[in-house]
Amino acid sequence: MAEMVATFPKKYGRVPHLVVVRVGEDPASVVYVRNKAKACDAVGIKNTTIVKDENISEEELLNLIKELNVDHTVDGVLVQLPLPKHISEAKVIETIDKNKDVDGFHPLNVAGLWQKTPHMEPCTPKGIMYLLREIGIDLKGKRAVVIGRSNIVGLPVAKMLLDANATVTQCHTRTVDLPSITRQADILVVAAGKAKMVTGDMVSDGVVVIDVGMDRDPETGKLCGDVDFDTVSSKASAITPVPGGVGPMTIACLMQNTIDCFLLNQTIKA
Ligand code: NAD
Repeated sequence: MAEMVATFPKKYGRVPHLVVVRVGEDPASVVYVRNKAKACDAVGIKNTTIVKDENISEEELLNLIKELNVDHTVDGVLVQLPLPKHISEAKVIETIDKNKDVDGFHPLNVAGLWQKTPHMEPCTPKGIMYLLREIGIDLKGKRAVVIGRSNIVGLPVAKMLLDANATVTQCHTRTVDLPSITRQADILVVAAGKAKMVTGDMVSDGVVVIDVGMDRDPETGKLCGDVDFDTVSSKASAITPVPGGVGPMTIACLMQNTIDCFLLNQTIKA
């Protein structure tokens, strides 16, 4: 990616520019936003972090986004979630120009995923699909089980797996007898946000496991995933670790989306 970005100043007169807006001092958001800036620096993408007080009004935040939307020096706009309760996340997401929506959360980008029309893909599901390709698994006809149905991870990744011709089962908090379903999985994607909820007795030999969770181990306080790595890894043919695995791939996809928005904006201007 860095080599590609290095060619842009000569071709287009500048490098891509990502603006990340953080509202408040949520400790996890501080770390996530810092990591995004570091990744931009590594790839050569110009990046600006705008920090706003947690008491910023919804109107002020929406106005800031509108300014960034019309700023031709800005290619990608990302507002770090979650936001304080008095600000509607839906309104914020809708306000970001869909062609600068590097997160792929805008309703028109979501619609594009479901209707198979051009769209910005959400970073984490896109990263999961990259990881599956890297592992080298042919998804056609495989039984994929996704735990979680959030708009950010579970729903889009299930759709992408379906489009890749896997047979997909989606599980959630109302799912009855989860282990009987997870044991049937050739591919298991876990995005529940529950530390170590998937244990070795819930999977079959040879399963490919993608652990999306970013949790804290209740005993050690250390970062861990939704999968109990020790008991599951002995049965899995491939498993993504936490930390590592999906997290870094999500950031890589954010960099790719920023480049894609930059290139799209060059085409629109031409
Ligand atoms: P969410 O809370 O919006 O959704 C969780 C989903 O899991 C829900 O659909 C719920 O029905 C399901 N679920 C919860 N407990 C369950 C249970 N016991 N059995 C079956 N289903 C259950 O969370 P999210 O935003 O989708 O994130 C999920 C996890 O992934 C979190 O740990 C989050 O931090 C992590 N995450 C990681 C990345 C990354 O880049 N690595 C990106 C996004 C989210």
